[in-house]
Amino acid sequence: MPELPEVETVVRDLVAAEIPGRRICRVEVLHPGVVAGTKPAGFIRRLNGRKIKAVGRRAKFIVFQLDDGELLTLHLRMTGQLHLVKGLCRRDKHDHLRLTLNDGRTLIYHDPRRFGRWKLAKNAAEIFHNLGPEPLDGGLTPAEFARRLARHRRQLKPLLLDQTFLAGLGNIYVDESLFAARLHPQQLAHQVHPAEARRLFAAIRRILNAAIGQRGTTLGLGEGNFASPHQTRGRYLTRLQAYGRGGEPCARCGTPIKRMVVGQRGTHFCPHCQRKR
Ligand SMILES: [Zn+2]
Repeated sequence: MPELPEVETVVRDLVAAEIPGRRICRVEVLHPGVVAGTKPAGFIRRLNGRKIKAVGRRAKFIVFQLDDGELLTLHLRMTGQLHLVKGLCRRDKHDHLRLTLNDGRTLIYHDPRRFGRWKLAKNAAEIFHNLGPEPLDGGLTPAEFARRLARHRRQLKPLLLDQTFLAGLGNIYVDESLFAARLHPQQLAHQVHPAEARRLFAAIRRILNAAIGQRGTTLGLGEGNFASPHQTRGRYLTRLQAYGRGGEPCARCGTPIKRMVVGQRGTHFCPHCQRKR
């Protein structure tokens, strides 16, 4: 499932491909289920003819700013992908939405599991009012992050996955961050010492930035695995230290990485380096 680094990679590719500045001259909703909040006819009417002013990211959402002030958002969920193609191409059975641009290119939404959602919004608050701060935003300081942690009596793993606490993290990068900070996934947040909280915050930022530098993580070769608009795959997989490495020796101490279920999510950690108090 695409997390912050993968969504950021998609957004940067769209910006590099000069999607901002293009006008949408044809909207095709091929599977109505991928459009949320509006019937497809209304979605097409509101979107057709709009110019895309900017493309950005908030949490795991791709955000297209339109020239009428509305926002077009896309959440890729499990297997959503955007493909950018020149000219006409045959429709794949997993292509569910197509935006033809005024330069002849088409932005194709491809999603084998069909959990992803497109939504039009009048303003940012309509979609993002519940989201927590961005981990890479300079406005969130280590001290503020530590204060936010101290207010919760929840286990670290589900808390860090909670988008209202912190935006953008998912299963892979939470496991990697807790491993790097040597914190147990079930440690209660309010029991984390301030120095550990700063270590965790630094680990989250370092890992997210490193993953963006590698264009995210692609876990496998299946077509549902992450690929950017130019259909390139993320390279961070080989750098993962805990996620998906159950049974392999910990890079720090050699103890086999353990897999357990925390908050209904498969969780990987080192039982020696990440002790619960
Ligand atoms: Zn270890």
